[in-house]
Amino acid sequence: MAEFADFTLPNIPIQVVNDPDLEEAGISLSMLRLDLAHPLISGNKWFKLKHNLLQARREGQSTLLSFGGAWSNHLHALAAAGNLYGFSTIGVIRGELPDPLNLCLQEAVDAGMHLYAVPRSSYRAKDTEMLAELNTRFGSFYLIPEGGANRQGALGCAEIPSLYVHKRFDLVTLACGTGTTFVGVASTSSLPILGFQVLRGQGYLSREVANLQAQFDLSANCDWRMNDQFHFGGYAKADSELLSFLTKFESRHGIPLEPVYSAKMLYGIYALSKKRDFFPQNCSILAIHGGGLQGRRGFKI
Ligand SMILES: *Cc1c(COP(=O)(O)O)cnc(C)c1O
Repeated sequence: MAEFADFTLPNIPIQVVNDPDLEEAGISLSMLRLDLAHPLISGNKWFKLKHNLLQARREGQSTLLSFGGAWSNHLHALAAAGNLYGFSTIGVIRGELPDPLNLCLQEAVDAGMHLYAVPRSSYRAKDTEMLAELNTRFGSFYLIPEGGANRQGALGCAEIPSLYVHKRFDLVTLACGTGTTFVGVASTSSLPILGFQVLRGQGYLSREVANLQAQFDLSANCDWRMNDQFHFGGYAKADSELLSFLTKFESRHGIPLEPVYSAKMLYGIYALSKKRDFFPQNCSILAIHGGGLQGRRGFKI
């Protein structure tokens, strides 16, 4: 079993992305490759799990329970982390378990995760009744919200800006689901950050970020903005334009993407670069690659 001492900040490369389309618009782009943070605990999920595992250990809990969909980066990473650091893990799945299991869930099971499916209706509620039922069934556990969306999760993400603090950029971007990573990064970033909301709903995530900042008691240390224009119809929705952008970017730059998060953020950057005056002149952007490529498998690209 690995010791928590191993949970020191990994060495994460910043890769320059030379792209004529962006250069034409006077923009330079680099990527912080969180997808390379850890071979099994990918991307921002490494950061979101870190303080949750430490907290579980402090509380003397040996079982971690969390929630997710059938292609959940979060559950996939949680299973690997539990396996590595000696926790039992339970993944509560929305809807039905695919039969046979898909690759993402199969790997979670292979890492020792116990999967438990609940109907979509009760999953949505995630109320005290459901938690009581889970307690009856599984005994005591340390609960991590879906996507690692709690204060511990955000605290881990607050370590991300230390990876770029000595570099010169004008703007940092990231793709946002729950907004937890964004709140953590904003709490310590000295550079302005621009988020790309991957869910539908005008202004939804910018309100949610404000809620989470209050709830987690983590205010922003920098200017921030949330763009809600590039969700492509909603969470895990994509069209042929997004998918062809994704494959073109991958083959040009050799950086793997997935259509749920990273491709939407990059599509947004490219689209906004064509709007005159959106980005300042000669803007130098650091895009945070959130890691987690499970969503790509779901699309069979
Ligand atoms: C989970 C995930 C996100 C979203 O993180 P939030 O903290 O929920 O906003 C973004 N990108 C990737 C690749 C992810 O796996």
